[in-house]
Amino acid sequence: MKIVVLKFGGTSVGTIKKIKRVAKIIIDYQKKNYKVIVVSSAMSGVTNDLIKKSSEISDNFSESEHDVLVSSGEQVACSLIAGRLIHEGYDSRSWLSWQIPILTKGKHKNSRINQINKRNIIKYLKKGGIPIVTGFQGLNDENRITTIGRGGSDASAIMIAKFFKAERCIIYTDVEGIYTTDPNKLKNAKKIKVISYEEMLEMASLGAKVMQPVSIQDARLNRIDIEVKSSFSKRSGTLITKRSNIFNNKIVTGISSTQNDSKVSLIGVRDKPGVAAAIFKPLSKNLINVDMVVQNISANGKETDLTFTIKSDDLNKTKKIIQQNKTINYRRLLFEKGVSKISVIGVGMISTPGVTFRMFQSLANKKINIKVISTSEIKISVLIDKKNTQKALIALHKEFKLNQKK
Ligand code: ADP
Ligand code: ASP
Ligand code: MG
Repeated sequence: MKIVVLKFGGTSVGTIKKIKRVAKIIIDYQKKNYKVIVVSSAMSGVTNDLIKKSSEISDNFSESEHDVLVSSGEQVACSLIAGRLIHEGYDSRSWLSWQIPILTKGKHKNSRINQINKRNIIKYLKKGGIPIVTGFQGLNDENRITTIGRGGSDASAIMIAKFFKAERCIIYTDVEGIYTTDPNKLKNAKKIKVISYEEMLEMASLGAKVMQPVSIQDARLNRIDIEVKSSFSKRSGTLITKRSNIFNNKIVTGISSTQNDSKVSLIGVRDKPGVAAAIFKPLSKNLINVDMVVQNISANGKETDLTFTIKSDDLNKTKKIIQQNKTINYRRLLFEKGVSKISVIGVGMISTPGVTFRMFQSLANKKINIKVISTSEIKISVLIDKKNTQKALIALHKEFKLNQKK
């Protein structure tokens, strides 16, 4: 069976007009003799609205009820798509995750798909039907509805492609593919024809919300090629694939940035084993994601300063946790809100020295101060003032010649 998985994001099904266009795309693949499995997200804005409602009901809304609530957006979108296909004369039906079922493991709000029952959908495909499956949702072993993290329909599509051994997995969104940086932030951004899982994972984790990071991990693990393209144009998109399929002489492939970071510094903490663990243990217990971490070399061998970044949404909680932590001592506690992390990413860095220097020099030329630095084999991230984000993006995009056509 020649199966194609078509995933439509919220931006592609955000209005009735857009849903009618999506139905046309689906019909095109059906006419090309593919067996089409559609995965849809909720209409754009719906998931956010539902989350807002839950927070108005309670500032500690039940996590299992949260999943029941927020997964409802996908049900609406799927039935509208199926309804339109039926209107056009096709055999189609919506499929909620629990009806398949798509089974998940892990905690509410952040589960992972680990099993999908194929039987009924295969039967339906064989008789010419077009199944429209809810993204983002799953079912746990207690028979409760789960969700798989924000942007999770991407991972639903990839896991469906894996279990059904699809020939192609296409992610439809509102831009023409993966760009060197967010095309809505920089109009010079260029579409990338092909990108490796590793680079895409870094770009997504470091702020490019076009793909959910977990979905890229799933694709890499299962060697699933992903095509990302626009539901609004017929132009070719981007292929996300394994590194050995790519011939590219660029040192830097893309730049990502985040906006809502905060910096926390503990000045004058004791420089002895166990202190960092004592600071981070209660944060991790409270699911606060600590990102960049630096510890200064202690001048007198007794005291040091520790700085780390978190999401600004977690700032108040973090403040409280540190102030109530009786196991640590420090002289001063400092917080800085409006900071932004900007990262350059590329596998070409592994074999090319001097990228760090070029990045720092071009920021220095623009008089942009670097507050924190972190690196991995294929990325360099710096923390800067949020007000300098755009300036830094423009400078680095130019420095690494990303303005040129790929
Ligand atoms: P969907 O509704 O299809 O899930 P998302 O809003 O999750 O769409 O992702 C698409 C958006 O991702 C684009 O509109 C774009 O602004 C943003 N984006 C961020 N970084 C990039 C990038 N490097 N390439 C393409 N899009 C990006
Ligand atoms: N609707 C969900 C969200 O907004 C899942 C998705 O868009 O992929 O996070
Ligand atoms: Mg998305």
